[in-house]
Amino acid sequence: MISSSEMTEPTTAQAPETVTAVATETEMSRERDGEEEEKIRRQKKLEEALEAKSLRRIISAYLNYPEAAEEDLKKWERSYRKLSPAHKALVPHYALKFERLKRCISTNSYFIFNMLQAFEPPIDLSQDLDGYEDSNLDCAPHEKYVLDERHDSSCQPALTNNCAHEEESKSLHDSELQRMNASDPPPKNHSEDTRNHDERYDCDGDHLNHDHGNASLSSHDWLDPSLQTHVPLVDVDKVRCIIRNIVRDWAAEGQRERDQCYKPILDELDSLFPDRQKKSTPPSCLVPGAGLGRLALEISCLGFISQGNEFSYYMMICSSFILNYAQVPGEWTIYPWIHSNCNSLSDNDQLRPVSIPDIHPASAGITEGFSMCGGDFVEVYNESCQAGMWDAVVTCFFIDTAHNIIEYIETISKILKDGGVWINLGPLLYHFADTYGHDNEMSVELSLEDVKRVASQYGFEIEKERTIETTYTTNPRSMMQNRYYAAFWTMRKKCAIMT
Ligand code: SAH
Repeated sequence: MISSSEMTEPTTAQAPETVTAVATETEMSRERDGEEEEKIRRQKKLEEALEAKSLRRIISAYLNYPEAAEEDLKKWERSYRKLSPAHKALVPHYALKFERLKRCISTNSYFIFNMLQAFEPPIDLSQDLDGYEDSNLDCAPHEKYVLDERHDSSCQPALTNNCAHEEESKSLHDSELQRMNASDPPPKNHSEDTRNHDERYDCDGDHLNHDHGNASLSSHDWLDPSLQTHVPLVDVDKVRCIIRNIVRDWAAEGQRERDQCYKPILDELDSLFPDRQKKSTPPSCLVPGAGLGRLALEISCLGFISQGNEFSYYMMICSSFILNYAQVPGEWTIYPWIHSNCNSLSDNDQLRPVSIPDIHPASAGITEGFSMCGGDFVEVYNESCQAGMWDAVVTCFFIDTAHNIIEYIETISKILKDGGVWINLGPLLYHFADTYGHDNEMSVELSLEDVKRVASQYGFEIEKERTIETTYTTNPRSMMQNRYYAAFWTMRKKCAIMT
């Protein structure tokens, strides 16, 4: 870009007075530029400090998991102790169940701790917000929202939703995640401009390399329990939700859900790009809101240059661990269902172990160019270099995460090549609907009919459409099975685009 000082550079042909005037103007403009630069620098530092704060809180949420789980257990034990001896005698195995639960919590904690140990923070976590007198700090975008818990029916107890999220949850802001790997090389289908956005799992033959940003604390000081902050329980709930998401994406038990949600998408991609193996460059496919990355990986294995996009550090920490560090299938054991006593057919169901991952990602047969890109979908992919880059965009349980779904549709249209396809599966459970206490929180909640109408305005034509019945991170052995009648469609971007 040409800077304004270059543009006002005087020429020798000018009269002396004019030169002086221009020179003064230039000086002023340089000063303005300097001030502007300083403002931008301060803003960046503030954003980075906020990101560090946000990430520390997410790490703390993971580290608080054992304590919070044990608290729950103590509560259950207290209730048990209140039983009369006669009633206690009717459930004599309870003491043993509590012992077993304790061991399950330890096993889950062991997994979490190993995951955190593998995590290299892409930013310096020691920076803090001291010295920033920014009145907006309280409502910084980081504070608002991160995980897709409303889809997570298993996060909800039978009667109330304890997975309340937006108000208290902690999130990464888009621009923060975009900076996650400033030192990474760009992915093949990215130009220079977007390389700072990438948190990547680059494919290198038969193993995945995860390049990390150079700002990491290598010593893992941040794992020191004494440095941990106490986080609200709602944050720890997110960790429990992640554990359930692991089952959806990376356990044999999640196969049924994956067959319901991912298989129709994969079948569709397979039939829409029949000659992809014969092409010199495989078709490219973007998966915004990629969660723990399984769908993006499967798309890669199908023969696409696949990129997942995700803006939650909760998700990214976990997907990075499984994609990059898993050595063998079944390497880890977790107990995903221990946190609720509700709707269990038996204690053994509740306490059953789940082995993860069900496959070894690095040996799954990925296509070169597989990557995960951290950051807010709209921000990252509205970069001009992304326009018309993708052959396919796949959204699964994603489009209702928007404040403004029209912006998502517009972005999808923009980044698709002419003739490219958008495959979507999911409900319209708008995440920002009913965000009590946040009256200014934007939430545009279109009906399916309106979504399709808007899409047609952005040049999309529907090629296929049906309803798919599915669950989302549901315990398959629970007596409660929330079902979605999800919209599934394939739309093709025609050339005529509304701008
Ligand atoms: N596709 C996955 C995850 C669905 S949940 C699956 O089917 O399992 C929706 C995901 O979108 C969450 O992981 C959430 O963190 C992510 N997300 C929400 N808003 C986002 C945004 N603006 N940009 C990128 N990811 C986003």
